[in-house]
Amino acid sequence: MAHTGRVDTSRAFAHGESVRSESRVPQLTIPAASLHVPAPEDVGDLGAGCGPDWLDESVRSDLPDLVRLRRRVHAHPELGHQESATTALIMRTLEQAGIKARLIPSGTGVIAEMGAGSKLVGLRADIDALPIAERTGLPFSSTLPDVSHACGHDVHLTVLLGAAMALARAGDLGGRVRLIFQPAEEVFPGGSHDVIAAGGLDGLSRLFALHCDPRLEAGLVGLKAGAITSTSDVVDLRVSGPGGHTSRPHLTADLVYALGTVITGLPALLTRRLDPRAASVLVWGAVHSGDAANAIPQSGELRGTLRMMDRNSWDSAEPLVRELVAELLAPTECDFELTYYRGVPPVNNELFSTELMTSAAQRALGTDAIRLAEQSTGAEDFAVFLEQVPGSLARLGVWDGVSQRVDLHSSSFRVDERAIAAGVRLLAHTAVAALQH
Ligand SMILES: [Zn+2]
Ligand SMILES: [Zn+2]
Repeated sequence: MAHTGRVDTSRAFAHGESVRSESRVPQLTIPAASLHVPAPEDVGDLGAGCGPDWLDESVRSDLPDLVRLRRRVHAHPELGHQESATTALIMRTLEQAGIKARLIPSGTGVIAEMGAGSKLVGLRADIDALPIAERTGLPFSSTLPDVSHACGHDVHLTVLLGAAMALARAGDLGGRVRLIFQPAEEVFPGGSHDVIAAGGLDGLSRLFALHCDPRLEAGLVGLKAGAITSTSDVVDLRVSGPGGHTSRPHLTADLVYALGTVITGLPALLTRRLDPRAASVLVWGAVHSGDAANAIPQSGELRGTLRMMDRNSWDSAEPLVRELVAELLAPTECDFELTYYRGVPPVNNELFSTELMTSAAQRALGTDAIRLAEQSTGAEDFAVFLEQVPGSLARLGVWDGVSQRVDLHSSSFRVDERAIAAGVRLLAHTAVAALQH
């Protein structure tokens, strides 16, 4: 159903009980005529004059080119593990800034390093797009029919390039900064494993990242110590039986009934067997079985996602799902095959790294720019890095404060490009602060 009036969708991003039907995120095509798209030279810098001089000067001179680069990447999105042109553009831009960079051996993504000294901190951006058709009406919309940067990774990589160019002008950083342009964040298994295999985490004392957040206005930064995203696993169940006539279920195994017991029983039992503070939620996204009203089918399939907000409960999820499925199906006499895909843990923001990032955000954009971030029910591959290195992920406000808020992964998702300078300032300040501690 199309929404015609202006709807505040902010609650749609909240987890748990605050998500209600009226907050469903609309999938609107925004008419081009309603869009104000400034020239790259006119995109604002909300932190202008906040300093230091090298950062002010760098943002002033680089911002129009960064906006152009972002629009170019946006118009030519590439899916996970296929980011060849994006990778080449990142390599070229780093080389032009005099920053040593190397390709990740798996084929896409870049690791670069700058500065000198033994201390080493990391900044990470993801670079891949999604298999979603873009319907923003922007003049630099995706040139592909079914691929777009609906998660804002074009902004992330642009911000990291901008921060690198600024840090290159900062003089002695008191250490080294590693720049990680990670491929394939949106696919499973994620490109974090390629980065780790390439030695991307070796020697890092801390690692930082940001992610676009359409709940927050451009110029605001959301921060939170502890878990800021959730786990996401996939449950894939295939059930089989002899099949037969619906008039004689006692002579066969009633496969649709068996599916039904798992559909309702497994989510319910998980809430009784897992710690309620894990806030686990199993939601079925696909059910397939049967053709006729009077025939018991021989096979059926259930697929769904299990998400939870707690790292400890995540470890017990797979064995518990296996145990409960077996117990639910035993009396039905159906056979089954369960495939459990373990996804990623929550992004667990380390306390001190988050404090460093908070003070950096205050210096970058002012004390009024800080917001307490909510824990998202979404998942993020950055979590894999933070299992090995302390660090923090911040939310970067990208809402323009005027137009309807649209969620990430929506075909209508847009960003206020003033977020680019804000992100550059945030990451540059974060790297400097982390090297000083
Ligand atoms: Zn995403
Ligand atoms: Zn993303």
